[in-house]
Amino acid sequence: MRSSRLLLVTLRDEPAEAEIVSHRLLLRAGFIRRVSAGVYAYLPLMWRVLRKVSAIVRQEMETIGALEALLPQLQPAELWQRSGRWAGYTAGEGIMFHLQDRQGREMGLGPTHEEVVTALAADLLRSYRQLPVCVYQIQSKFRDEIRPRFGLMRAREFIMKDGYSFHADEACLRRAYAEMDGAYRRIFQRCGLRAVAVEADSGAIGGSASQEFMVTAEAGEDLILATPDGRYAANQERAVSLAPEAVPLPPQPCRELSTPGQETIDDLCEAHGFHPSQIVKVLLLLARFAEGAPQPVLVSLRGDQQLNAVKLANALQARVNDRGALLQVMPIEAEALGKEDLEPLPFGSLGPHLEDDQFAGARSWTPRLLRLTDATASALPSFVCGANRPGVHLVGATWQELGPTAATEALDLREAQAGDRCVADPSQRLEAARGIEVGHIFQLGRKYSEALGATFTTEQGEEQALWMGCYGIGVSRLAQAAVEQLHDAQGIRWPVSIAPFEVIIVIANIQDATQVTVAEALYENLRGLGVETLLDDRPERAGVKFKDADLVGIPFRVVVGRGAAAGEVEVVCRHGGDPETLAAAAAGDWLRERVRRERSGLLDDSLGGDP
Ligand code: ATP
Ligand code: MG
Repeated sequence: MRSSRLLLVTLRDEPAEAEIVSHRLLLRAGFIRRVSAGVYAYLPLMWRVLRKVSAIVRQEMETIGALEALLPQLQPAELWQRSGRWAGYTAGEGIMFHLQDRQGREMGLGPTHEEVVTALAADLLRSYRQLPVCVYQIQSKFRDEIRPRFGLMRAREFIMKDGYSFHADEACLRRAYAEMDGAYRRIFQRCGLRAVAVEADSGAIGGSASQEFMVTAEAGEDLILATPDGRYAANQERAVSLAPEAVPLPPQPCRELSTPGQETIDDLCEAHGFHPSQIVKVLLLLARFAEGAPQPVLVSLRGDQQLNAVKLANALQARVNDRGALLQVMPIEAEALGKEDLEPLPFGSLGPHLEDDQFAGARSWTPRLLRLTDATASALPSFVCGANRPGVHLVGATWQELGPTAATEALDLREAQAGDRCVADPSQRLEAARGIEVGHIFQLGRKYSEALGATFTTEQGEEQALWMGCYGIGVSRLAQAAVEQLHDAQGIRWPVSIAPFEVIIVIANIQDATQVTVAEALYENLRGLGVETLLDDRPERAGVKFKDADLVGIPFRVVVGRGAAAGEVEVVCRHGGDPETLAAAAAGDWLRERVRRERSGLLDDSLGGDP
C-alpha cells in the first residue's frame, strides 16, 4: 500500500475531545474519527489492526474447538422478557438501544447475545451426544452507555468477540472455562499486552464464577486489588479483604450524648475524640425494581468503611425476588419523604434501630425497611450510633440493646481497600493498580437455559437444562488498550502481531530518482516476501514523513535517503535500538526474518498474568 493512496490524515494538534493518550494518538495518527458520542469510524489503518486482533482471536478459538457463527444484532424483546432482562436493560439506567418495528413489536439492538444463543440451543441441541459445543462470533455490539468516553474504550457501538458454551454437566463447563482461560491468556500475550486475570463480579449477566482480564494502565477505569505475590487479584467491585481492626470503645453503659449539628463521622470524631471505627453509620437508600414498589433500605456499616455499590446491588437482588431486576439505588432525602407523606427523619442522627413505623404510611414505597448490616458493624461489641432523634447519639450501644429489628445477618458490603490484609493470606496486604477490562469469562450455570427452556436428554433418558458458559473480549477496546500500554512521546508503538503494516519505507526525497528506484524495488521485494509494507511516497518533506511514521507506529521503518546512491538503506525499529545500515539488496530478507519471528506474538513466554 502507498501512503499517497491511504486516506492518511494525521493531526499536528492535540484533539480537544480526547482525555487519554491512546484516544489522542488514534485520532492524531488517523486511525479513527468520531461520528457521534461513543460512535466511531474505523479508518483503513484501524481496520487492519482490528482484523489482525480478530485473526488472533479466531486462531485461538479454533485451537480449543470453538465454532464461528454470526447471530442477529436485531433481537426480539420477547426473548429478553423470557430471561427476565428486558426491563433491566431498557428501563432506568438500562443500556440496550430499543425500538418498535412497523408492526409495533419491541426489539433491541444486541448489547450481548445470551438470549439469542440460548434460544438457538433450545432449538438445535437435543441429546447429550451433541455436547459439549461452543460457538462464538465477532461483531458490533450496541450499548447506550451512560458515560461513553475515551474513544474506543467505552463506546456505544464497539466490536466484541462473544462466545457461548453448552454442557451436559458442571464439570464439563469447568473444563471448558479453564480452556478458555488459557486461550484468553494466549490471545492477550500474542497481541503484545501485559494482562492480568482477576476475580470479577458476575453483574447483570448472572451466574457464578467469573474472571476478568485487565490490561494494567493508569487510564484504566477499573481498580484491581492484588497481593504482592499475585496469588490473589480481584476487581474492587468484587474484592474481599480483612478490614483493619477496630479501635475498641472503652466498656461503658449505653448513654445518650448531645451532638447538635454533628452530622458526619468527622464531626463526631472531632468533637468527642472517637475513632471512626467506633461508630456505626447508617445509610438510608431507596431501591427501584422493574416491577412493584420501591424499597426503602437501611444499611449499617462501620464508620471507617465504605459501601461497595456492586455488593449492595447483589445483596438487594438476592433478597427482593418478587420485583424483577434492580434498576437503581439512590439515597433517600428529605424531599422524597415529603412526597411520600412521611414524617421527616433525623438525618445525621440515624441509628440501625430506626423503626419500621416511620415508613408505614408511605404512598408508593414498601411500608417497611429492608435492613442490611455489614459484618464490620455486626462485629462491634459496643459502639456509637445515632439515637434516631435530632442532635442525639448513643455511646456504648450494643446490638442486643438496640433490639431484634436492628440486628440482621452479617453481610459483606464493604469496599476492600489497598492496604487491607488478604483473607486467604493475612501476611499479604492488598495493593491497588488500575486496569482496562479487555475480556471477561463466566460460568453461567443454568440460569438462561432454564428461563428459555434449553434442555437436552441425558444418557439415562432424562430431560435436563443445559449448563452454560459465556466468554467476551472487547476487540476494539483491546486495540486501543494496546496503544495505551505501547506508546512514547512520538506516537504509537504497535507490536508486530497487530500492527497495521509491518514495515514502512520512507522515501526521503521524492525528487531523487535513485531513491525512488531503490525504494520501489525494495517495496516489490518485501511484498513478494509476504511482508505487509507501506511505501511513503508522498511529496512531503522528510521530516514530516518521519514524524508521521513515528506517530502511526509501524514497527520497522526503512529510510531510503542519500545512501541510496551507494545501494544502502537505514532500518529503524520503532521499539528502540540503534538504526542499522543495510545493503538495499539484503534489506528485504533481513526484514522478513525479523518480522517472521515477531508476527505470531509468541516470542516471549511470559503468559502475562497468573494462573
Ligand atoms: P464494563 O464493565 O467495562 O462496562 P462489561 O463488564 O459490561 O464492561 P462485558 O459484558 O463483560 O462488559 O463485555 C465483554 C467485553 O466487551 C468487556 O470485557 C470489554 O472488553 C468490552 N466492552 C464492554 N463494554 C464496552 C464498551 N462500551 N466499549 C468498548 N468495549 C466494551
Ligand atoms: Mg465485564
